Amino acid sequence: MGKPINSLKSPRFCGIRTFQRLPYSADVSGNDFAIMGVPFDTATSYRPGCRFGPAAIREASAILKPYNHVLDVDIFEELEGVDAGDMDIVPGYIDESFAVIERETDRLCAQGVVPVLLGGDHSITLPELRGVVKHHGPVALIHLDAHSDTGSDFFGKPYNHGTPFYWAMEEKLILPEQSTQLGIRGPLYSRSAWEYAKGKGMLVLDGWQMHTIGLTESIRRVRERVQPGTPVFLTFDIDFLDAAYAPGTGTPEVGGFTTHEALALVLGICPGLKLVGMDMVEVLPETDHGAITSFAASNIIHAFLSCLAANRRR
Ligand code: MN
Ligand code: MN
Repeated sequence: MGKPINSLKSPRFCGIRTFQRLPYSADVSGNDFAIMGVPFDTATSYRPGCRFGPAAIREASAILKPYNHVLDVDIFEELEGVDAGDMDIVPGYIDESFAVIERETDRLCAQGVVPVLLGGDHSITLPELRGVVKHHGPVALIHLDAHSDTGSDFFGKPYNHGTPFYWAMEEKLILPEQSTQLGIRGPLYSRSAWEYAKGKGMLVLDGWQMHTIGLTESIRRVRERVQPGTPVFLTFDIDFLDAAYAPGTGTPEVGGFTTHEALALVLGICPGLKLVGMDMVEVLPETDHGAITSFAASNIIHAFLSCLAANRRR
């Protein structure tokens, strides 16, 4: 059962890095959530290197504090958590790595914790969902990203960081009528790139539309789709943020969102929902500057944990 090291006794820059200075334990039993790294970047289409994302997010997370004033909640008054280390993926081998990711996510869910997974490229969400759905059934997906990631294949192959939600939909891991993609923008290969998700009944709030309707209306449209008691999985691709706020990513897009807007969306969407997991993907420290991308990623995870804690308190 885990709480972070008290940073008023041991300074925050001391010690060996785990997420938010939580205890490291491969055994997650007795906890409410578990952090795990998924350092897999074999399925990237442009700049590789997000295998180093989990380490960078953990490094930046040392600065986090337990109390979130927006929700008036102290995460660790409500929750116990551990950092269970990284999954031993197989570099260069997608199918073998997916088997590891599914098995490990399955193990976390079987032990009753909410998995909070640090990518890695976005392909990892498909095997994560395979693991989650075994325990919870199909999920409402809340997907923040500059890209829809609903291609059926790239270079003649099915698994890529641009295809996880096509396959998740085909495998019926997602409830499209309760799911939303937010922030999609940027040039596309063809005008039909979003039609798949829309055709399946998913709501797509594209980036341009969100800038017009604003945060409050965006939050309302996401929440009104989710039925009470439906398991919800949050998948956050850091390129949802504008390239100015998250330069450390493999396929950056301009015209995006600020760090504040991302926090406000997570803190606005997630309270009251049955949260069964989250991931934070596509953090690429090699092209980051001043760790701003890693700080953003760790704070967005903190916002998710704050919602998990606030929901527990209710
Ligand atoms: Mn993505
Ligand atoms: Mn993306």
